[in-house]
Amino acid sequence: MKKISILGSTGSIGTQTLDVIRKNPSDFEAVAISANSNVKMILEQIEEFKPKYAVMYEESKAEELKSLLPKGCETEVLSGMEGLKKISSLDEIDVVLTAVVGMIGLVPTMCAIESKKDIALANKETLVTAGELVMKAAKENGVKILPVDSEHSAVFQSLNGENKRDVEKIILTASGGPFRGKKKEDLINITKNEALKHPNWDMGRKISIDSSTLMNKGLEVIEAKWLFGVEAEDIDVVVHPQSIVHSMVQYRDSSVIAQLGCPDMRLPIQYALTYPDRMETDFERLDFRKASQLTFEEPDLETFPCLKLAYECLKAGGTYCAVLNAANEIVVNEFLEDRIGFYDIPKYIKMALDAHESIENATLEQILKIDLDTREYVKKLIDNN
Ligand code: NDP
Ligand code: MG
Repeated sequence: MKKISILGSTGSIGTQTLDVIRKNPSDFEAVAISANSNVKMILEQIEEFKPKYAVMYEESKAEELKSLLPKGCETEVLSGMEGLKKISSLDEIDVVLTAVVGMIGLVPTMCAIESKKDIALANKETLVTAGELVMKAAKENGVKILPVDSEHSAVFQSLNGENKRDVEKIILTASGGPFRGKKKEDLINITKNEALKHPNWDMGRKISIDSSTLMNKGLEVIEAKWLFGVEAEDIDVVVHPQSIVHSMVQYRDSSVIAQLGCPDMRLPIQYALTYPDRMETDFERLDFRKASQLTFEEPDLETFPCLKLAYECLKAGGTYCAVLNAANEIVVNEFLEDRIGFYDIPKYIKMALDAHESIENATLEQILKIDLDTREYVKKLIDNN
């Protein structure tokens, strides 16, 4: 029985994680769950999964949740960052599945690592912001970071049993998002609703916008560097619209190993929880007679400059990736609120990067400060425009 804390149980990854737990009640237990503000959904989750703890990040929502708990319910309700830290370090849990959106996941993830909990990591912004610190802490504490992101799960599986020194290149596949094949002039006036329509995956709003700008792939290139210890030059991105090949590893003898499957996030979620074992599922199987077309093409960096910005930040090192992430979180939010246009996203991110003085070997406190300062800087830029 694996005992799990879920950070972000009401989101796309969180609810799919609970589905994996629901289907395998004798293998997994949700000891703690958490949300930002969705009282209605977490209440249903409490009733179904009877976790020991539930965290509502927003304090007023935690109070509301307490008042709604059914009589006799033993779930303890906590709130804020203290609540997230507590459920990340409980004695009785084995693994923390990080599925909050944004770098808000960084502090609880560090807390879980210091408490020697394995991490099933969906929350990529954490590694983008502070990958070096997180991986170092994981190593020092003997903790596994198991990727949930489908591309990284695919790479992880393609590396199984191989020697690190034989790896020549990691090849991340990208669906291309809803605007694949479009040009800049087609996209200048697109709306958030068009950007939110992903062809292959049903995901949270922030990652859906990131997929439409290809920033998601940029964040994943950075995530891959930290997870697998590979330099930016040795991480390629190839657009593969069918999302069947989830990613690949090329070896120095020219061999390429890939992981394939139907697009279903429950598979990488489950694998992160069962690794190194596998478990029976009723998920859709690939039918190669039907999946007759697997196509691959070069990403269009002119139309989607965010991917290029991410590579540049990774190559520049220091704290540029923390700025990239913070600026992106703000502009995506502003775009979702209809306050800026699609191409304002890379524009403001670039302005934040140009204004940044990078620090080498930054501490967690320095990174958290850079994150806050960047958010304020970008908000001001937008307000003054
Ligand atoms: P969602 O927006 O669907 O869910 C986010 C979750 O985090 C919700 O439970 C939300 O609570 C909670 N949350 C949001 N803000 C806060 C906060 N300030 N404090 C505490 N909890 C908060 O996101 P996704 O599930 O799509 O994505 C989660 C992470 O996984 C992201 O980092 C994403 O990049 C990554 N990922 C997602 C994939 C996907 O298919 N969705 C694929 C690969 C990676 P509430 O419901 O109350 O708002
Ligand atoms: Mg992904």
